[in-house]
Amino acid sequence: MEKKQFQAESKRLLEMMINSIYTQREIFLRELISNSSDAIDKIYYKALTDDSLVFDKDSYFIKVIADKTNRTLTIRDTGIGMTKEDLENNLGIIAKSGSLAFKKENEAKDGHNIIGQFGVGFYSAFMVADVVTVTSKALGSDTAYKWESTGADGYTIETAEKDSVGTEIVLQIKANTEDDNYDEYLDEYRLKAIIKKYSDFIRYPIKMDVAGKRPKEGTENEFEDYQEEQQLNSMVPIWRKNKSELTPEDYEKFYHEKHYGFDKPLKHIHVSADGAVVYQAILFVPESMPFDYYSKEYEKGLELYANGVLIMNKCADLLPDYFSFVKGMVDSESLSLNISREMLQHDRQLKLIAKNIQSKIKGQLQSMLKDEREKYETFYKAFGRQLKFGVYSDYGTHKDVLQDLLMFHSSKEKKLVTLDEYIARMPEDQKYIYYASGESMERIDKLPQTELVTDKGYEILYFTDDIDEFAIKMIMTYKEKEFKSVSSGDLGIEADDKSETEAETNDNKELFEYMTSLLSGKVTNVKASKRLKKHPVCLSTDGDVTIEMEKILNAMPN
Ligand code: ADP
Ligand code: MG
Repeated sequence: MEKKQFQAESKRLLEMMINSIYTQREIFLRELISNSSDAIDKIYYKALTDDSLVFDKDSYFIKVIADKTNRTLTIRDTGIGMTKEDLENNLGIIAKSGSLAFKKENEAKDGHNIIGQFGVGFYSAFMVADVVTVTSKALGSDTAYKWESTGADGYTIETAEKDSVGTEIVLQIKANTEDDNYDEYLDEYRLKAIIKKYSDFIRYPIKMDVAGKRPKEGTENEFEDYQEEQQLNSMVPIWRKNKSELTPEDYEKFYHEKHYGFDKPLKHIHVSADGAVVYQAILFVPESMPFDYYSKEYEKGLELYANGVLIMNKCADLLPDYFSFVKGMVDSESLSLNISREMLQHDRQLKLIAKNIQSKIKGQLQSMLKDEREKYETFYKAFGRQLKFGVYSDYGTHKDVLQDLLMFHSSKEKKLVTLDEYIARMPEDQKYIYYASGESMERIDKLPQTELVTDKGYEILYFTDDIDEFAIKMIMTYKEKEFKSVSSGDLGIEADDKSETEAETNDNKELFEYMTSLLSGKVTNVKASKRLKKHPVCLSTDGDVTIEMEKILNAMPN
């Protein structure tokens, strides 16, 4: 029998696989199972157009068999199978999508990185197996063929015995080494867990014979071994189900099953888009902040599925930073399994999905604010700061998306108000949106600068968060109303009295000049003011940076 060589490119990838120290070896099973599922899809579509074929759903399945004694793991399917040519062409060369990314030399040097970045398909079997044997009988063919390879040195093909159409892949699982445990790929529980993790939503049943012990009939204390075939995947994912069939509890259960958080989600968003881009998504707004949320350790992102198969745990490109608190998943038929992380970043479909998702989240937050005020405030207390960071970041480019979601405490009732609410109840003669910065509401109330404003019956927004004033500087004006710090030089209230204060300043010119010189380097000017009632003196600023901002800037590490 002739031994054939792999294509050069395939050979390199194979070598990497075999020598891989990559920790996510378990993905080989995901790859083989999704190939089986693809093969069943093919026979299914054939049956749709070919009357001589009947697609009887029960006879299409994937079976996984672990044999500890012989150290083999078998994946058998009733899919379309492969002819001799198929075996040569499909398993002798690397799938196009994979080879594209593979061409990058720098990546090739670091093998285990590549494997982590995209599904490498069939070859991933060599991460766990010394020998891979594929026996297949194609639909419409009388002869079955056996393809076998021990890795980089090539493969052989010969005729074989196989009754039914489909493919059987037998992996001779590697022996354990000092550093690596391969036994786990023969272990029933481990296999179940891997299948559940990656392939739970494969559309065809994935079966396995599960061993157990049961009391032996007709005896008292005797037990017998038995085998029972179990289906391991749940097949229809919750996101493909109809919203009307699902209860809030279903979504909550999913949230916890997926370990998105320990809390109860405040809101779920179930999207089933079939417009310009086809995808399904289930997104959650959590109730409470993850303990590491405002730290560098926190990783944003959504789970990404390509047609029911998990391809990435945290796809960061799907969420803007200001919505980084959102948890959930996206499934799209338009994405391929063999997609690298860099390719994803430039994927047009993914960009569309991300944009779509962003506006769905925005819409849900808006309606929560409108209809479920209490919930919204709970949300805002946990994640409002992130929205404010969002307004400030990237030079204010996201302010239009975020500004109507902002809330601040106000002097009126010491409650949270939105900017819209503030503007709606402004007295007619009020020109500005007033705010005061400080450590706490109590402290701000004691500021002499607030006197005139509150005296006028104007409401003041309390800026007690470091980021508040910085964010507002990005917004500048909201609904044509300018923001004004109560400590700014011109409050827009004293206008009528300007001549009076100017006269008073002139009358006391010498005194004020003397005070200015005493405080030189600390203040730029001392003058008379009408803004004070109970307090003798206050500081005010004219520039862009207020006293509070200066404090924060000075406290920042250089
Ligand atoms: P991809 O799935 O991205 O095409 P793979 O390396 O996973 O790349 O598989 C290569 C090809 O081998 C598949 O496209 C398919 O044609 C064929 N193949 C693999 N496994 C099977 C199978 N179980 N049944 C039929 N064909 C298969
Ligand atoms: Mg594949």
